[in-house]
Amino acid sequence: MTTSLTNDQLSQWDHDHFFHPSTHLGQFARREMGNRIITSAKGVHITDREGKTSLDAFAGLYCVNVGYGRTEIADAIAAQAHELAYYHSYVGHGTEASITLSRMIAERAPEGMNHVYYGMSGSDANETNVKLVWYYNNVLGRPQKKKIISRWRGYHGSGLVTGSMTGLDLFHKKFDLPLDCVVHTEAPYYFRREDRSMSEAEFSADCASKLEELIQREGPDTIAAFIGEPVLGTGGIVPPPAGYWDAIQAVLKKHDILLIADEVVTGFGRLGTMMGSDHYGLKPDLITIAKGLTSAYAPLSGSIVSDRMWKVLERGTDENGPIGHGWTYSAHPIGAAAGVANLKLLDELNLVNNARDVGAYLNTAMADALGAHANVGEIRGEGMMCAVEFVSDRDDRVFFDPSQKVAPRIVAAMLDRGVIARAMPQGDIIGYAPPFSLTKAQADEIVTATKAAVDEIL
Ligand code: PLP
Repeated sequence: MTTSLTNDQLSQWDHDHFFHPSTHLGQFARREMGNRIITSAKGVHITDREGKTSLDAFAGLYCVNVGYGRTEIADAIAAQAHELAYYHSYVGHGTEASITLSRMIAERAPEGMNHVYYGMSGSDANETNVKLVWYYNNVLGRPQKKKIISRWRGYHGSGLVTGSMTGLDLFHKKFDLPLDCVVHTEAPYYFRREDRSMSEAEFSADCASKLEELIQREGPDTIAAFIGEPVLGTGGIVPPPAGYWDAIQAVLKKHDILLIADEVVTGFGRLGTMMGSDHYGLKPDLITIAKGLTSAYAPLSGSIVSDRMWKVLERGTDENGPIGHGWTYSAHPIGAAAGVANLKLLDELNLVNNARDVGAYLNTAMADALGAHANVGEIRGEGMMCAVEFVSDRDDRVFFDPSQKVAPRIVAAMLDRGVIARAMPQGDIIGYAPPFSLTKAQADEIVTATKAAVDEIL
């Protein structure tokens, strides 16, 4: 959208009227932090109203997976809007787009997962998941089996129950969260393990035994489900230590606890494989999908339901009437059309394999450039995800005082060099999750900008 407004006018309105998410409202009001008004984007680059172009190494919020400016998706959205902008999906209604997309998702999901309920965001899809878990246990006559276990540093959304499942302090503070129905367990964060003598396998076993202890403390009959991202995302971009998911799943199975795989980030290719569940051998009962489903060309999310749960949901409606869960915009035709076009494009352009290959290149190049730096504690990643974690003392693994804002300052110095990365919210960690269309030359640009920014700040 271009208008005749001056940048100063827009900026004034921005400060006067726009409530920005995840923003320091006081600093914004006092103009101690800048705003950035984005006007256009193409490939892996975004451009703002000042005319500055940046390489977006975080794909928006790890969501524009196929890259910006894909006319195939824009055209599909426009065609759908012209033909049928909206109809609801209640009581058996649908569109060609929503039915086709459901089929495409089922084909890409792990075996035995064949039904999709649609929402608009990762948060609302996880809200749906919790309701489905509760409904399931009520139908099975286990009304006390309701608590959800999530991990510290997990990110599952910003709603009431989803903000509770999110295991980051900032998302709880002053919001009266977490709710009582959510309990947290150890994060699978090997680099930050307390006992540094542990091997990865020992640490995974320790995470599983801490989970077992928590379940025993709460009472196995009260625990309904465990939710986790295959790779911790917003909590620090942390791939699981060796053997972690096998050890965790064995505990869940023993206590008949459902597994929700939150694949909002990992779903549809980010790890270099179609689904993160298959990547790590997860056998979930529910999968949360969002971002990569449409590459964020339109808001759309989903809960993929396993056949095992589906049978119980069907039985529930036979006993209680239609399922009392419905949203006006569920399976919105424009979102569904974007999803179909996006998943086709992923295949046609071989983008999942590119995410695997160029993602591996990016991780190696980052390790080559920064691995020996005295303030780099760890470089880690999987597929097209990478993180660099900074420490003040590498040998003793001493972290910087957060007031020094090391990662935010490095990220700002990178932006001066034309590259966007993300300072992750808890720790001095810089995260990268570029579009899958990234080239090796662009990966080199990201690494070069990071190295120069690190040399400037540290
Ligand atoms: N789950 C995960 C793993 C996420 O990374 C996010 C968002 O970043 C969400 C859920 C919430 O999605 P949304 O912001 O669309 O509500």
